[in-house]
Amino acid sequence: MNAKNLDLKPYITEAQLQEKIKSIGADLTKKFQGKKVVAVCVLKGSFLFYSDLIREINTDITCEFFGVSSYHGGTTSSGEVKVTLDLANPIEGQHVILIEDIVDTGLTMNYLIKSMESRKPASVTTVTLLEKPEALKVPCKLDHVGFKITNEFVVGYGLDYQGYYRNLPYIAQVQNFQ
Ligand code: 5GP
Repeated sequence: MNAKNLDLKPYITEAQLQEKIKSIGADLTKKFQGKKVVAVCVLKGSFLFYSDLIREINTDITCEFFGVSSYHGGTTSSGEVKVTLDLANPIEGQHVILIEDIVDTGLTMNYLIKSMESRKPASVTTVTLLEKPEALKVPCKLDHVGFKITNEFVVGYGLDYQGYYRNLPYIAQVQNFQ
């Protein structure tokens, strides 16, 4: 399969994405009113969602980036999480908003929550743009979910296939996997 030749079916439009992001941002603004938070972007997939979402959270925010890789370029989760970039600063005593692109088996989110909690933050709030409930293998604490989707592979708006399609402004389902 050539990564650049996928048959894509538009699934979640730009307008739907932005409307949902405004609503999650409003919820988080209410929750953290008057408090300082550190927003953790899980790289690479959540970078577009993260940059749109933090602009909808109206409180004092600092930004941290945490790189993990779990798919190794394929389309099924390996279950192994490799840290590619650690946080640059301590988060001890701070309110953390952990921002992910998609929860599939839940293994990555579980790993991320454990990794954040081991650093003794005041709290960890999890946000994921997408969740595939049918694919969940481990229980996962998800505080804010943008869209629950069926168990199909999606690309766009930060999500890739073999590194491509992250720049698509909407989410699409891939039609032509055998
Ligand atoms: P989990 O550990 O929950 O199985 O997998 C989470 C990670 O797998 C996500 O951060 C994302 O990188 C990748 N992933 C899971 N489902 C999809 C999908 O449908 N499309 C893409 N592009 N990546 C996915």
